[in-house]
Amino acid sequence: MEGMMMHRPLLVSTILDYAMKAHRKAGITSARTEGDVHSYSYPEAGARIAQLAHALQGMGITLGDRVATLAWNGYRHFELYYGISGIGAVCHTINPRLSAEQLIYIVNHAEDRVLFLDTTFVPIIAAVKEHLPEDMTYVIMTDRAHMPDTPFPALCYEELLDGQPTEITWPEFDENTACGLCYTSGTTGNPKGALYSHRSTVLHAFTIAISLRHSFGEGRAILPVVPLFHVNAWGLPYAAPLVGASLVMPGQALDGPSLFRLMDQEEVYSAWGVPTVWMGLLAEIKAQGRKPANFEDVVIGGSAAPRSMIETFETMGVSVGHAWGMTEMSPVGTHGCLPQWMNDLPFDEQITAKSKQGRRVYGVDLKIVDEDGTVLPNDGEAIGELYVRGNAVVSGYFRNEEASAKALDAEGWFGTGDVASIDPDGFLVIQDRAKDLIKSGGEWISSIDLENAAMSLPGIATCAAIGVPHPRWDERPVLVAVAAGDDRPTLDEVREHIAPHFAKWQLPDDVIWVESLPMTATGKVSKLNLRKQLADYQHPELRETA
Ligand code: AMP
Repeated sequence: MEGMMMHRPLLVSTILDYAMKAHRKAGITSARTEGDVHSYSYPEAGARIAQLAHALQGMGITLGDRVATLAWNGYRHFELYYGISGIGAVCHTINPRLSAEQLIYIVNHAEDRVLFLDTTFVPIIAAVKEHLPEDMTYVIMTDRAHMPDTPFPALCYEELLDGQPTEITWPEFDENTACGLCYTSGTTGNPKGALYSHRSTVLHAFTIAISLRHSFGEGRAILPVVPLFHVNAWGLPYAAPLVGASLVMPGQALDGPSLFRLMDQEEVYSAWGVPTVWMGLLAEIKAQGRKPANFEDVVIGGSAAPRSMIETFETMGVSVGHAWGMTEMSPVGTHGCLPQWMNDLPFDEQITAKSKQGRRVYGVDLKIVDEDGTVLPNDGEAIGELYVRGNAVVSGYFRNEEASAKALDAEGWFGTGDVASIDPDGFLVIQDRAKDLIKSGGEWISSIDLENAAMSLPGIATCAAIGVPHPRWDERPVLVAVAAGDDRPTLDEVREHIAPHFAKWQLPDDVIWVESLPMTATGKVSKLNLRKQLADYQHPELRETA
């Protein structure tokens, strides 16, 4: 309508342009695959991103083309995020932990035209190369001096940039153009692609900068342990430049001592990642008797943050933001930063509140429904399947009619596959993945609750609760645990320790000790593989009668 506001498209290139001018002292520090640490400012990043964009255009890459990356968190990966999508192409990030079969599937399904890879991933591509598109161009993300021998023709990233103009006028196009593509590593069937738009990506960056505001701040350093190769590192490559925070990229060394060293050196204020990486960091903090300099904030998500982990961080003065989301949601859906009035609660109650998955971010609506699709109340009691709606939530899957048809309910809400409750203060509690809930005698037991409680026992490093078949009760819960030391608690000790939080029939019937738990490509315990490993396991009562 005449006389109204201007319409300027929400393009990711506008974030880069803004950071280059408004936050020119902030930038990116990276632990490189070459073995050293590299630092530069956002204006310097922008100059190289312009060079990359010119090089891509020179290769014939245009609007809508898919360009793949297979890389750790580092400045060149950041350059690809902006260089590819800045010219209207789609940055398809590939998870290197996928199986060869899944990798072959997604590269062919996405019809990637160019694949950029870190030197470390040459063997992965060498092993599957004959199954990838024949006309694919490969670019190794390093300089000439570090180029590895490759059994396939490959270009050198730094040579590609050399001599290209360091300035660019970013093209303008519809904000609903795709900018990124990430496949979910579903536990069954082929991976499914979530296709992000420029609009959804920019809005998501605004959203997390506002909701997870404790982590951000001009001049602060944020370290994404969460990979750029999965769900856009929870949006940090966009939100950090937007607010003028610097990024510290850890590269491939994600063990406790390496993370501690980098965080300490670079005075990282906030770090984001899944619970498993924090176990390593916390062990190193314990060994050193101190936390890394300036470390005050941690965002934990991807799977449930154990209460004991939240308590340990908070006790040492590191504030925890427990977040929930998924690939299909760009990914952040809720965040566990507490409202001001909760700061007056006793410490223990604050930890209880932070153990929940938190309140929805702006732009995400939540509803829980029963088996008939009837919406359940947000009373903290009712438990139902969780559906979401929002401007950074997928409306279907990339080139997958079958999965798209099943993704939304009749009202257009996306089914998360999670089972949850929501309390009157708006706090979401994820009880389980629907398929991981344990059903005993017709009643449900949350595997997350059992794991959370058991992990607070000092003798248990990590664990997973699963249901095993039982003739009378349908399923019974057992705990599969990794010991923290030589002193393993007995089954009775485990039951006694967690008994105050559960009904008696919800307590596990057995503890199975293992060396390690099988993990998925995204750092979660793979219950599917765990069940396969325990295929021959029998419930203790069945053994007695056998
Ligand atoms: P992905 O798409 O790989 O990011 O996985 C998304 C799934 O991870 C969600 O549907 C949840 O089941 C699980 N998840 C993510 N964050 C949390 C959390 N904070 N607590 C419990 N489960 C989580």
